Amino acid sequence: MTELQTTTDDRAVFEMVGGHPCLDFVNTEIQVRGKRHDLLKRFAHWVAWLTQAQLLDEATAAAVLKWEGTAAAEEALIQARILRQNLRDMADHIIAGETIPSSVITELNHLLRLGQGYLQLVAGKEGGYQSRFMHVIDDPRQLLVPVAEAVVDLLCTLDLSLIKRCENPNCIRYFYDTTKNHSRRWCSMEACGNRMKVATYYRRRQQGR
Ligand SMILES: [Zn+2]
Repeated sequence: MTELQTTTDDRAVFEMVGGHPCLDFVNTEIQVRGKRHDLLKRFAHWVAWLTQAQLLDEATAAAVLKWEGTAAAEEALIQARILRQNLRDMADHIIAGETIPSSVITELNHLLRLGQGYLQLVAGKEGGYQSRFMHVIDDPRQLLVPVAEAVVDLLCTLDLSLIKRCENPNCIRYFYDTTKNHSRRWCSMEACGNRMKVATYYRRRQQGR
């Protein structure tokens, strides 16, 4: 399972199977052979993830990389990992049909207050116009703001009953099920679907003996 590939220019490439940036952020921690693996090992990985998730534009991403190795960047990365764990708990609460802990809402509101930016008007490629919010990032902690905004989007605009956890018991990835009949069971067919099908096949064959 190649969850984190590295391109020739050493930029991390993440598998975005969550169907929503909030869940893809939770999925930056995976489980391989029963052990948790953090795909955000360095500040640069987190910046790469934010860019790939389209929560950060390329120019801002290039500018914030200058913080790599600073205490402020390390601290922000620690905060990102804490937020990720809290979002994992949040997803579990939602899947269990429970309300999300008020501490998560408090944490999100705290992060949202760090936000700075402005709205821009852009001409659409095929006519019409679009608005685009540009984040101003003066401090590494502000990189948590677009993630918190993605959580707001998930909670306020989507059908929470479609948040699911991969049915492979050895997998800890989540996804938003957009299939027509809401029958999606795996984070990805390649990583978990085929594996589980093969396991079921052999179990059935053994039982049949
Ligand atoms: Zn899976």
